[in-house]
Amino acid sequence: MTINLLHFRSLLIAGTMTCIVSAGSVEKPFEVGTWANFCKGAVSHTFDDNTSNQLTKAVPLFNEKGFHMTIFTSPYYRPNWNGIRSAFAQGHEIGSHSIKHESNATDFAASQKYIQDSVPGEQCISYAYPNCTYPSGASNVYVASRGCEGYPAPKTPDFNNIKAQLIASAQYGNIMDVNGMNKLVDAAIQEAGWSIYLHHGVEGDYMFAATPLNDLSQNLDYIAKNRDKVWCETFGNVARYIKERDAVTVKKKASDDKSITVEITDNLDNKIFNYPLSIRLPVENTWDKPSVTVKQAGKDVQDTIVSVDGKEYLMFQAVPDGGDVVITFGATTSVKNSVSFNGNAAPITRLRSSLVINRQQFNNNISVTLFNLDGKTIACYKLKNDESTVDLNGITFSGSTFIANVSDGVTTSSLLVHR
Ligand SMILES: [Zn+2]
Repeated sequence: MTINLLHFRSLLIAGTMTCIVSAGSVEKPFEVGTWANFCKGAVSHTFDDNTSNQLTKAVPLFNEKGFHMTIFTSPYYRPNWNGIRSAFAQGHEIGSHSIKHESNATDFAASQKYIQDSVPGEQCISYAYPNCTYPSGASNVYVASRGCEGYPAPKTPDFNNIKAQLIASAQYGNIMDVNGMNKLVDAAIQEAGWSIYLHHGVEGDYMFAATPLNDLSQNLDYIAKNRDKVWCETFGNVARYIKERDAVTVKKKASDDKSITVEITDNLDNKIFNYPLSIRLPVENTWDKPSVTVKQAGKDVQDTIVSVDGKEYLMFQAVPDGGDVVITFGATTSVKNSVSFNGNAAPITRLRSSLVINRQQFNNNISVTLFNLDGKTIACYKLKNDESTVDLNGITFSGSTFIANVSDGVTTSSLLVHR
């Protein structure tokens, strides 16, 4: 948000007097999801201490299932930096776990710089305290710092010490297998909270605690099956979302009989806080639903019409301070360069009755599989080399929600689609 400095200063002064500091306001009938896609809860999988199977087994598993993980990295463990950089390039987060991994380490800024220098492009906004010791000062450097102590964290946690559940250690909580791991999902959904998995090793590569790969795989399947209820993202992106959600102002700027222009702003640093928020508004019966489009700063954003308790909403994803959002609901024939997180083109986008696959994110031999929420295949397509869309009109199945999975055999991406 561009803001007059004097005005900003007076706001701050007013803030200290009235205790109304930076919280935004959301004008009706707009709503901002507590979690992305209006899920009921969120989960993040985090991995400490750079054990070898994190890169060789966990990263490929998360890629296959279409999720992202966070790797809390410490030079003390001599990480494979090429592997770390490759994981980052595939959408996983690299956070800091201090330089020497000593209790009460306070090398917050130095360890952040170490990651930033070693993994170009990674902002390194996330920190995990070594050995569950919590000296002060992390919040001067990091957006979010992870501790230990259980699950789920509340929907707005203490960002200086966000609790997480240790996995595969009989000493701390005794969560050893998929049944225990799935309870973190259930708790996040039930308590509208954020469950954070704290893994160390994977599949026997660490004496202290190593999560069995098969249990991890089944847990990701459980998350996928509950994708309309639970949102799984990196620790840092969930933290970004929370801070933006709590700071955002959404208001109608203009409207006529064909469109609504919406202003979505916050007072956060746009270089860091650039994750799209999920916003919705009720569908009006005067709208021509098949032709609804949503653009931010002139570019198509992901949008979908969802039915919740018999009421229809238009849900879209927009970045605060990313430009005005224009919703049009008259006939239009525009076509589409969809843009997603951090300005990267989304690998897969739903535009009304089609799925649009961004071929630049895949090699050839792209297959598209549609699953219902029980994991049953509804339909399967092989795209020809000049094809980039799948028409959803001909698909018959009874549910209201399905998962579209796009893969070229190496890269896989998934999207939850509401009919
Ligand atoms: Zn550690």
